[in-house]
Amino acid sequence: MSAFKQALRETTADLSEAGRRWVYVPYDQLTDAVGPLTELSPREVGIVMVESPRKAGQRPYHKQKLALVLANGRQFALEQARRGVAVEHVVADGSYADALRDVASRRGTLRMMEAAERELRVDLQPLVDDGGLEVGPHFGWLTTEADFDPKGKGPPWRMDAFYRRVRKRTRILLTPDGKPAGGKWSHDADNRQFWPGDPAAPELPRFEPDAVTREVGDLVERVFAHHPGVLDVEALPTTAADAQRQWAWALEHCMQHFGPFEDAMSTASRNLFHTRVSALLNLHRLLPGSVVHDVANANLPLSSQEGFIRQVIGWREFVRHVHRATDGFRSVAQAAPLPGDAGYERWSGWPWSGAEALADGGAKPNALQADNPIPPAFWGTRSGMACLDQVVEGVWREGYGHHITRLMVLANLGTLLDVSPRALTDWFWVAYTDAYEWVVEPNVLGMGTYAIGDRMTTKPYVSGSAYIDKMSDYCAGCAFHPKKTCPITRLYWAFLARHESALTGNHRMGLVMGSLRRRDPEQKRRDAATFEAVRDALLAGELVPPSR
Ligand SMILES: Cc1cc2nc3c(=O)[nH]c(=O)nc-3n(C[C@H](O)[C@H](O)[C@H](O)COP(=O)(O)OP(=O)(O)OC[C@H]3O[C@@H](n4cnc5c(N)ncnc54)[C@H](O)[C@@H]3O)c2cc1C
Ligand code: SF4
Repeated sequence: MSAFKQALRETTADLSEAGRRWVYVPYDQLTDAVGPLTELSPREVGIVMVESPRKAGQRPYHKQKLALVLANGRQFALEQARRGVAVEHVVADGSYADALRDVASRRGTLRMMEAAERELRVDLQPLVDDGGLEVGPHFGWLTTEADFDPKGKGPPWRMDAFYRRVRKRTRILLTPDGKPAGGKWSHDADNRQFWPGDPAAPELPRFEPDAVTREVGDLVERVFAHHPGVLDVEALPTTAADAQRQWAWALEHCMQHFGPFEDAMSTASRNLFHTRVSALLNLHRLLPGSVVHDVANANLPLSSQEGFIRQVIGWREFVRHVHRATDGFRSVAQAAPLPGDAGYERWSGWPWSGAEALADGGAKPNALQADNPIPPAFWGTRSGMACLDQVVEGVWREGYGHHITRLMVLANLGTLLDVSPRALTDWFWVAYTDAYEWVVEPNVLGMGTYAIGDRMTTKPYVSGSAYIDKMSDYCAGCAFHPKKTCPITRLYWAFLARHESALTGNHRMGLVMGSLRRRDPEQKRRDAATFEAVRDALLAGELVPPSR
């Protein structure tokens, strides 16, 4: 018998005992601090948890993500059993609804907090319709639809306006007379510093895996051996105590310098002063309300407090509302029939099949009609562009990269190369340990690629090499010179030229579109030639040529 099953059998209460109320706890609601588990004493409640190898196998998820989700689920089951909660743990080979229907037929109607993932909500709907599952509000979120869209006007939605409303309502970082602490709502302008190597970036915490976590690691290496990414179980917080340790580390070692170096990138530290709590927040191992409270009440520079709080009560909540309000962007575009593999089959040769999928492939908005596939460089084939190669290497090593590497290196290059936004979203979804559709789709389709037009951002987040050169040390070790031979600046101009008609009416793009119109025709010809040469080389898995 597996270490987990043995431990659960030894710990859990007698499952045949009557009189408990049964609650379904999805893989990403691993908390007893909010929701139904707070309403009943442990002796009055039972929980059902479902592991689905089919869900885990429907996309080529990074091994580190599979291990993180599986191990946290198992550790949560054991933690609850130790509290006296009865725990039924099910391994399903079909849908979640089917697995739970069987449990509901034995234990009566189950309760749950509403699933964050649309995918899971859709899966469970038939059981809700049959009366086998009762869905209540998800108390892990900090904001409401009224915060998001108070007048119900629909898009365009803007994060800044949302964030101010939430700050005002919650009074977070507000003076007694209702003004923003420090006199401004955003400290972004102070938070765009290059990191020169000092102050030193902290070492990441490591975690001693117990038998249950080690067993998950072995399972992932055995059953999901064909999935990409390096598995490093000691890097994974898997228990409630690990999650608290991760957060204590972030508060003590990262938050002081979080703000000023929030946008910096470095070859010397992939992490710099980022907290690495997104994966734990998205599993509800850490609660957003608690981390915001801790940061607001800590003795920290305001630029760090405001920078972090904006990300959590601003961006994180905002993207979730956008996803919900657009039905996962299905109100904008049709969904692909099956989950995409982001080009993994083509790159790895592993015959990937979506036939066993539990979900569709997600909406395919494509405002700029970009249809190129994911270049092999995103899977680890060297491109010769130091920024891209560095960031991709980190992603496959750790399942992590901070927001600027995601936005200004990966999404920027994908967009400049006219990579299909859906394929790029699928790539982000499988590559990062914190990715779930409600968060990855708005971030890539909405912010990273402008695939939904101006519904959630005012303009595409694209740039030439100057930004990367200013905010990182990547260029110093690159085969290209950022001002002379780097192809990215020409890719940028070529992008603007290709999409001139779509971008010209956008007033936030007025200045650059004016510069484009004044650009010398010979330069424009060279921009276009560079685009074609770089695109062709990257799609062929070859080293990128210098700009022409
Ligand atoms: C193209 C792109 C794709 C992204 N995909 C994901 C994703 O799949 N899952 C995910 O959780 N975040 C995603 N983000 C947001 C952000 O990059 C990560 O939340 C962050 O890098 C996680 O690392 P951290 O915990 O060290 O963050 P920190 O820099 O320490 O930030 C603190 C917290 O703020 C929250 N946050 C910050 N920005 C965002 C945002 N834009 N959306 C949601 N939460 C945010 C996260 O919970 C994060 O833990 C994406 C951003 C971009 C630009
Ligand atoms: S020179 Fe260009 S390709 Fe090289 S690291 Fe800098 S921005 Fe990236």
